[in-house]
Amino acid sequence: MSFVEEKVQADFCTLRTSELKFVKRACDLCGSKEAEPVYSVSFLGLKFSFVRCPACSLVYQNPVLDKESLERIYETLEYWDHRHKVSAESTMLNYYSYLGEKEIRRSTAELRVKSMMGYLPEGSRVLDLGCSDGSFVRCLSGHGYRTSGIDISNAMISYGRKNYGVDIYRADFEEDWPFTEAFDAITCYATLSNIVNPSRVFANIRKHLRPGGYFFFNFGDCNRLVSRLLKSRLYLYRPTVCTIYSKKTISDYCNNQSLRILKIFNDVQVVPLLRLFGFLRIPLLMQTCELLRLEKSNLKMALLTGYTACAVRER
Ligand SMILES: [Zn+2]
Repeated sequence: MSFVEEKVQADFCTLRTSELKFVKRACDLCGSKEAEPVYSVSFLGLKFSFVRCPACSLVYQNPVLDKESLERIYETLEYWDHRHKVSAESTMLNYYSYLGEKEIRRSTAELRVKSMMGYLPEGSRVLDLGCSDGSFVRCLSGHGYRTSGIDISNAMISYGRKNYGVDIYRADFEEDWPFTEAFDAITCYATLSNIVNPSRVFANIRKHLRPGGYFFFNFGDCNRLVSRLLKSRLYLYRPTVCTIYSKKTISDYCNNQSLRILKIFNDVQVVPLLRLFGFLRIPLLMQTCELLRLEKSNLKMALLTGYTACAVRER
C-alpha cells in the first residue's frame, strides 16, 4: 500500500451492515402516505425498496436508511472506491473508484463550467452542493469564480482540504448551511438523488441564492426510455438513492421555491469504462477492465438516463 493510500484510509471508517437501520416515511413532495411498489434491489444482504406516490408520481425509497446509517455510509472508503471493499457483501455499494477518477472528473467539470460561463461573469460567488472532495470547487475557482462547497461526508471534506486546499465545509443539506451571504449560483451534480427530503434542500437553495441567481444541477429520470429499458441494471436503484425524479417532479420542486427552469438538456459527461460497467452492475467487465489496465479509458457521452438543467430564482 502506498503512502497516499494509507493517508486516504486514515480519514475513512469501515461499514458494518448490522449498524444500518431503516425508517418508514411519507412522500416528501406532497405528504401522501399512499405508495405503490416500483422495484426492489439487494445490496449488502439487505433489501432496498422503491415506491411511487400515486398523488404526485414521485419515486422514493421506502423504507429508507435512517440519517445515521446514511451518514455512516458516506464515511466509508468502500462507498467512494470499490477497490477498497472489505467483504463480498459490500461489493457494488458504490460502483467505481471515485477517488481514482480525478483526471476524468476534471474533464467533466470543465464541460460543466463551460456550459455555465454564458450565465455567470468571472468573480461570481458560487456554492457547490454535494462537493465531496471539492474537485468541482477547484475547477470553478480556476475559472475565476469565488467558490465554496458543502458535503455531508466528513471524510471527503477532510480529504479535499488536505489535498487541494479548497474552501469546503461539512453540512447537512436539510439543515442550516454555514453561510450568511447570498450566492450568484448554486451547483449540484450527482447529489439530488441522495437526498431524503428534497423539499427542505430546495428551500435552502432558494434562501441562499440571490434573486436572479442560477441553480445548475443534474438528475436521473426514471421515466426516460433508456431508464425504463435498463430498469434492473439502472444505477438509480441503489442503497443511498433516496429520491428518484422525473421532469415533472423536479419541476414541481423548483416551482415550489420560485425557481424557474430555463433549460433542460442531455447530460454530457466524460465517463470511464469502469464506471459505465459499474453503473450497469457488471462486476466481471469491471474486473476485466482493471486486469487490462483500462481504468483510464473513457468516453464522452450523453447519459440518457437523466438530464442536466439550469433554473433561475425569480423572486
Ligand atoms: Zn406525493
